[in-house]
Amino acid sequence: MNTAEISREIRQRLVRMHQTGSHFGSAMSIVDILTVLYFRVMNIASPDDPGRDRFILSKGHATSAWYTTLARKGFVDEKVLDTYLKDGGQLYGHPVRGGVPGVEASTGSLGHGINIASGIALAGKNDGRDYRVYVLMGDGEIQEGSVWEGAILAARLKLDNLVAIVDANNLQGFDRVEKIQPIRTFRKKWEAFEWGAREVDGHDHDQLERALREAPFVPGAPSVVIARTTKCKGVKEMEDCFESHYLSVPKDKVECYCRELEEEQ
Ligand SMILES: [Mg+2]
Repeated sequence: MNTAEISREIRQRLVRMHQTGSHFGSAMSIVDILTVLYFRVMNIASPDDPGRDRFILSKGHATSAWYTTLARKGFVDEKVLDTYLKDGGQLYGHPVRGGVPGVEASTGSLGHGINIASGIALAGKNDGRDYRVYVLMGDGEIQEGSVWEGAILAARLKLDNLVAIVDANNLQGFDRVEKIQPIRTFRKKWEAFEWGAREVDGHDHDQLERALREAPFVPGAPSVVIARTTKCKGVKEMEDCFESHYLSVPKDKVECYCRELEEEQ
């Protein structure tokens, strides 16, 4: 399956959805990660299959990318995407478990996803199931202390069925990550917490797939893939731009951005 094409379609859909609300750049940053997970790596034929691989979006504010991926996968009616952030709709600005098929956990309070994912991974082991659990976090998010509490526990429980992915775009809600809390050594930090770690280009589908398939990187240990990404990937004038965290897509830019994405292929 041509996942480059799927990522492009999802990004074009996000351009149209984000004429309202925030977090356009946050969503565009993770499209390739979600596409590779759902269309190349995860074993998930149905969102209700008890044996399915699980995915938790810990950086819940980027949920428009998750909704769009679930729709492209066929778990959500494409028409429902038109209700994003609309009164009376199901698609809130942060994911709510049970609200949309395939949304495994309510998130948005940062630093919780790794702990929810660890619990699901532990349950899988206790139940003798061989599913994997993937959790996607932001690079600003991993400044949260609860992430590292979770990392200690996951290593102690030997959750080798748990894979964390860090969307490392070097921007967070208030500034560049390096200006707020530099984490240049964070691969070493994960390794010090007894996780196996790999670093990849988070927009290169082959690199992402290889790393995600090769986990666990250390036998008996949880794994982290540090995905180097660009915030608002795909829309040149907003790439690596802090403001894309908050600004909506101006109405008069929608067709221009969609065309730019089309021409990139
Ligand atoms: Mg970030």
